[in-house]
Amino acid sequence: MNIKPEITIASPGRINLIGEHIDYNGGHVLPAAIDLCVRLYFKKNNSPECTIYSKNVGDRFKIDLKNIEISEKEWHNYFLGVIHFIEQKYPNTISSFDCVVDSALPIGSGVSSSAALECGFAKGLDELFDIGLSEMDIITMARDAEHHFVGTKCGIMDQFAVVRGKKDELIRLDCNDLSFNYVPAQIAPYALVLVNSNVSHNLATSEYNVRRQECESGMQHIQKRYPQYNCLAEVPQKVVKEIESTVPSKTFQRLLYVIQENIRTKEACSALVDGDMITVGQKLFESHAGLSELYEVSCTELDFLVDFAKGFPGIIGARMMGGGFGGCTINLVHQSKVNEFMEKVTKAYQEQFGIQPTPFTVSIGDGVRRIS
Ligand code: ADP
Ligand code: MG
Repeated sequence: MNIKPEITIASPGRINLIGEHIDYNGGHVLPAAIDLCVRLYFKKNNSPECTIYSKNVGDRFKIDLKNIEISEKEWHNYFLGVIHFIEQKYPNTISSFDCVVDSALPIGSGVSSSAALECGFAKGLDELFDIGLSEMDIITMARDAEHHFVGTKCGIMDQFAVVRGKKDELIRLDCNDLSFNYVPAQIAPYALVLVNSNVSHNLATSEYNVRRQECESGMQHIQKRYPQYNCLAEVPQKVVKEIESTVPSKTFQRLLYVIQENIRTKEACSALVDGDMITVGQKLFESHAGLSELYEVSCTELDFLVDFAKGFPGIIGARMMGGGFGGCTINLVHQSKVNEFMEKVTKAYQEQFGIQPTPFTVSIGDGVRRIS
């Protein structure tokens, strides 16, 4: 399906340098939008229905604006959810339209193709119908679509980075109060290399939601004794150690990880500002160890990629990125070693798992925008 678009939107994926699985625990994160985007093309139509076509899926579906309900097909729900939440806050602003989606982002690989899609879709509708959505409207409506229509209880980081991303800047976001500032991504002489493991274990969504529940129940235990704390990521480590015997051992591990990751993220951010890239890299390795051993969201393939990076001269830091159980690792690689690393990691991974990984460099780009 091709349309003559009235409006074209570019909506980027995102990386997260450090601060994994802590947005929904009120922690600090350090994401950025990247130069890879999904493009969405929009045109009003005069028919009673809207048509959405995804070139990536190779399929289309129709939407009746008078009857927005959750679909059995997961990918439909990103669109349906966004329309639902726009209609809820700004009733009767949307009329029939067609939309074509064409993504250059790897899908389901931890660079948040989902947030790129939701936020790009909301931005496009805003431009097409002049709804007057604020940036925070787009961020929260996209997040709510993912929660209530798709069923992933994601935090706010992905949507925030996709909307507020800025070229060559990382975003230091405090997910407790949503205050943020831009931190120049002065990482030279290192480059950002992602390695897509090209595996996605189907545990990802269910375990993600289980981790959230574990953190919530752990927090309830903490609050019984210390009602003054309302944000898990900011609870002192000694408090968590005190309640160790009152919670299941797995819950204790999760709590410890969250608190340590929040501290690491703040330290990595300070190190970045000071130009101390070696410390930044070290924090990435520590983050991976926590995700793998305490939070248990890694997998053999990701552990292999991070171990390989650790032993590779010119790499100062690496970790799994995103929800886990597959997807990408993020690596800080000396610019002079990028090609050699991409070649060697491909060979080693292929030999180990019989799967071709996809390594690629990313640079930090602008957030969602109208390009025509
Ligand atoms: P990630 O956000 O890390 O890429 P998710 O599992 O959160 O992984 O989101 C991937 C899902 O988002 C896909 O399974 C699909 O439902 C939807 N999606 C992303 N991009 C597209 C696209 N271009 N066309 C249709 N659906 C898409
Ligand atoms: Mg996602």
